[in-house]
Amino acid sequence: MKNISVLGSTGSIGTQTLDIVRINDDIKAVALAAYGNIELLFEQIKEFSPKLVCVYDENKALELKNRLNDEYAKGELKNIPEIVSGMDGLIEAAVIESADTVVTAVVGMIGIKPTIAAIKAHKNIALANKETLVCAGHIIMPLAKKEGVSILPVDSEHSAIFQSLQGSAGNKINKILLTASGGPFLHKSLEELKKVTVEDALKHPNWNMGAKVTIDSSTMVNKGLEVCEASWLFNVPASDITVVIQPQSIIHSAVEFVDGGVIAQLGIPDMHLPISYALTYPERRFINDEHLDLFSLGKLDFIKPDLEKFKGLSLAFRAIEEGGSAPAVFNAADEVAVALFLSKRISYMDIPSIIEKELDEHDTIKNPDVDTIIALQDEIRAKHR
Ligand code: MG
Repeated sequence: MKNISVLGSTGSIGTQTLDIVRINDDIKAVALAAYGNIELLFEQIKEFSPKLVCVYDENKALELKNRLNDEYAKGELKNIPEIVSGMDGLIEAAVIESADTVVTAVVGMIGIKPTIAAIKAHKNIALANKETLVCAGHIIMPLAKKEGVSILPVDSEHSAIFQSLQGSAGNKINKILLTASGGPFLHKSLEELKKVTVEDALKHPNWNMGAKVTIDSSTMVNKGLEVCEASWLFNVPASDITVVIQPQSIIHSAVEFVDGGVIAQLGIPDMHLPISYALTYPERRFINDEHLDLFSLGKLDFIKPDLEKFKGLSLAFRAIEEGGSAPAVFNAADEVAVALFLSKRISYMDIPSIIEKELDEHDTIKNPDVDTIIALQDEIRAKHR
């Protein structure tokens, strides 16, 4: 039996994680955590009967508690989970005794502290929260090593790299080929990009994801964050990571070894596979019958990213090279810029401009602790309010 805690259970990765729980009798969700979508949480509680549920928003937590009590009184529910809230509650969900793996699918720096707590409580981490490694890779990776826990990637690219490395332990990696879809604006000119609207940017050609990551994917900032994560996860310098646009999103990433051999992982664009692999590794489980059909696909294309158009990507390499607090600043500036764009207060091409300005103005701090990283984010948020 595998018991998991799902942080961010109502989001895109969270709901797909529960799809995997649904089809595997030996995987149980013992804890769920979400920000405030109590409608969906209520349904999830009825279906999965977790022991503990965290609703980050305190008022929503109270609302959910009342609703559960009513249902219980009516005899509609057999048992009610313990309801907790806030950061303390999120950490409780991360360290719950009965879980052996924590799926970190919350969005934002909010994921860092619970992940650290889970590692200290000897839980394996199925990692989907980008900020954890981007902002705190220097804290997380040594800690995971010290505590002897595994960090299993959930993101499709990192899972593909991880899968490509199986059976090759100890062999020298020449480079990582990190693939990207190129997003919806791959073939737009720089001039056209200046006129992109929120509605345009929210339409992703291949992947169905949350709003923040969809915008990040269109600017390729998301790929920059993934380069940073891959560098930490696989201990490869960013200079040995090549971003390759593969518009069909069939090759999910690849590894080139010292002998020139390239091992890649292919499949249809569907997050269920990387989630399932992270939960059942090293075993592979049946998911569904929608498999890759090379004949109907016909061909695969490869394109080098235009760094003038996708300036966010080159800024990411700059931040990674700088190290210390620079990737956290890159991340926080992007988060602020994307929120401003989504609320239509800035234009699309202002996103990389804001990131660049914040990086320019920042004096890099070596080895920042978590509170320093969070303070930097608050500072950047306050500036753009
Ligand atoms: Mg990805």
